Amino acid sequence: MEIKFVENNHLKEKPAASALGFGKYFTDYMFRWTYSREEGWHNARIVPFENLSIHPASTVLHYGSEIFEGLKAYRRADGKVQLFRPIENIRRMNRSAERLCLPELPEDETLEALLKFVKLEQDWTPSDKGTSLYLRPFMFGNDESLGVHAVHNAEFIIIASPVGSYYAQGINPVGIMIEDEDVRAVRGGTGYAKCGGNYAASNRAGERAEQQGYAQVLWLDGVTRRYIEEVGAMNVMFKISGKVVTPMLSGSILPGITRMSCLELLRSEGYDVEERLLSIDELEEAMENGTLEEAWGCGTAAVISPIGELCYKGKKYTVNNGEIGELSQHLYDTLTGIQWGEREDTFGWITEI
Ligand SMILES: *Cc1c(COP(=O)(O)O)cnc(C)c1O
Repeated sequence: MEIKFVENNHLKEKPAASALGFGKYFTDYMFRWTYSREEGWHNARIVPFENLSIHPASTVLHYGSEIFEGLKAYRRADGKVQLFRPIENIRRMNRSAERLCLPELPEDETLEALLKFVKLEQDWTPSDKGTSLYLRPFMFGNDESLGVHAVHNAEFIIIASPVGSYYAQGINPVGIMIEDEDVRAVRGGTGYAKCGGNYAASNRAGERAEQQGYAQVLWLDGVTRRYIEEVGAMNVMFKISGKVVTPMLSGSILPGITRMSCLELLRSEGYDVEERLLSIDELEEAMENGTLEEAWGCGTAAVISPIGELCYKGKKYTVNNGEIGELSQHLYDTLTGIQWGEREDTFGWITEI
């Protein structure tokens, strides 16, 4: 694959690890690839990071044709940089693209481009504990016309942002508000696609939860509001009477790569894991009779985010005394150990740069 390179003559100074936060700083370059019906994917290029110029009628600005991915590059103790299951992000992006009628990407070439881009920008990967280089591939419809139809032109871009440790203050169990009014997605909709529109639709509930002191919302299914779906931008798992239970992939929840990795890991260790429907009634009962042992969210940003409190219709339940549970800690240690190269990767999840 040929990737054109345009040099940036104004390289930026890298921020101090303590200033990083999430998604505030961006590296010197970005990868761009342009699609048209006539030419397919063409003009692959790495260019200086800069503002985009798009037509005011561009599809994305009016009809929300946008999908994205999120993954991280991790710096190991020996200085090398590595990625965690990047091919899964590319595959998921293609499933999102299919749902939104955006063009699919060739898997191998996209991975090649991603690796080349990370290699070029790898010095931006911070080395302090818990820090990483967050990679944000995204795609949007870019027809210069207000007509409504499957897009004929699109842009695929990868940007990168050095990010701080999610747990700079140590792992802290969060409070979650169970949302019983707004819904995030329905089966047949775009719930399983990682698209910007899903986030736009969930902001109102997120805002309300925040005003009441909760970190995120837990979504119920869009039809009956009885079944647990996921938490904000994370999948959710519960340990009930010794078994791990997580909502099955029904089409309305996002198939997380951290979720998949937790399940593969737990099964390899002989845990009882159930992917099934889990109703709010069953969860309430488990909270009331003490059989809910642990609850946690899982996603690339936090890896594992223990849940210390759940609130449903104004009723508050404390989970595991508001402390991180043994299994949550075990999953966190194992996954982060593999990601930062402190533990052997027996699953073949790691791609070295
Ligand atoms: C990205 C995302 C997740 C987590 O997926 P990972 O691949 O584990 O990072 C979960 N839910 C939603 C809504 C998401 O957008």
